[in-house]
Amino acid sequence: MIAKTYIEKAEYRNIWVIGELLSGEIQPVTYELIGAARGLADARQCEVWTVLIGAGAGAGAGSLFAYGTDTVVVVDDSRLDGFQDEIEAKVLVRLIKKYKPEVVLCGATTRGRALIPRVAVMANCGLTADCTGLSIDPENGDLLQTRPAFGGNILATIRCPNHRPQMATVRPRVMKALEPDISRVGRIIREGILDTDADKMKRIIEIFHSREGALNLSDAQVIIAGGRGMKGPEGFRLLKDFAFRVGGAVGASRAAVDSGWIPYAHQVGQTGQTVQAKLYIACGISGQIQHLVGMQSCETIVAIDKDPDTPMMQMADIAIVGDIFEIIPEIMNELAKS
Ligand SMILES: Cc1cc2nc3c(=O)[nH]c(=O)nc-3n(C[C@H](O)[C@H](O)[C@H](O)COP(=O)(O)OP(=O)(O)OC[C@H]3O[C@@H](n4cnc5c(N)ncnc54)[C@H](O)[C@@H]3O)c2cc1C
Repeated sequence: MIAKTYIEKAEYRNIWVIGELLSGEIQPVTYELIGAARGLADARQCEVWTVLIGAGAGAGAGSLFAYGTDTVVVVDDSRLDGFQDEIEAKVLVRLIKKYKPEVVLCGATTRGRALIPRVAVMANCGLTADCTGLSIDPENGDLLQTRPAFGGNILATIRCPNHRPQMATVRPRVMKALEPDISRVGRIIREGILDTDADKMKRIIEIFHSREGALNLSDAQVIIAGGRGMKGPEGFRLLKDFAFRVGGAVGASRAAVDSGWIPYAHQVGQTGQTVQAKLYIACGISGQIQHLVGMQSCETIVAIDKDPDTPMMQMADIAIVGDIFEIIPEIMNELAKS
């Protein structure tokens, strides 16, 4: 059975154009898409936003207002040199989740075709490729996406009433750029490239790294704690290796202690120890109140769990969703490189 995702359509607003950059230069398809977006935004009485991602992306941002953009989101980072479609897709998905555009337009260029399907999948919405015409229902914001079908014999108009954002690609030279109007002004929002979870962890561990902390739980600056999700003593051996690498101590939930996977001295919580580490990494611990009372004063809490809705994942400063047995080796590999 396919799970249905219900979204609140009213939360989604504005027409986005994903700008195309080549060696930092804004490509003509960007201006063409802004021209099309302007017409849609006027009909819908909302704004046109252009997203520029890449090394040197900030340079031409201000020039886009004259062509009809109200807001430019710039993600300018030297790590985005060249075309990093995987990273750009992740950045875009995060921006989409944050700002919730109603429509996202991208050029049906080599780059656009590599980038935007990834984004559509990760954002859980559809994508209409190679549109030749775009209009919008001003009442409900449904994008009417016209494109050739059946080998070009008919023109189909595709509507996407249930999901937001609505995503479409348009080939270069199909839409027209507006004549520039230099009196137009707008705003620029700068966003950073977000590190991968492994990078984040690596940085935090570097900050809090302290070999002295390995001695015992109550004095430890870094605690790597495991719960029932560690599956057995073997899982705790992985945590001990991890703790050794980062100079931390190993903690445990009562479920793990009661199962005999690790001695009671490691138990954190109401009937175990109360800890105040700088960094507490909870691995496969759901975070029942009896555990939380023992560690909630830790400075930075990282949770790794396959279930994003556990109390521990909700209270963590960084919640990493996934299988511990994949994520911890990944982090250890990253640490080994440094
Ligand atoms: C009087 C009393 C006192 C207590 N005192 C304490 C105490 O001091 N300390 C304490 O900890 N508990 C204490 N408890 C027990 C507490 O209520 C919980 O039962 C216990 O904390 C649960 O342990 P857990 O989070 O490890 O297990 P679970 O609640 O079973 O959570 C396991 C987690 O692992 C995740 N997981 C499983 N496999 C994977 C995987 N491969 N990758 C990623 N995630 C995975 C699951 O999604 C789940 O979130 C006490 C209870 C009582 C009644």
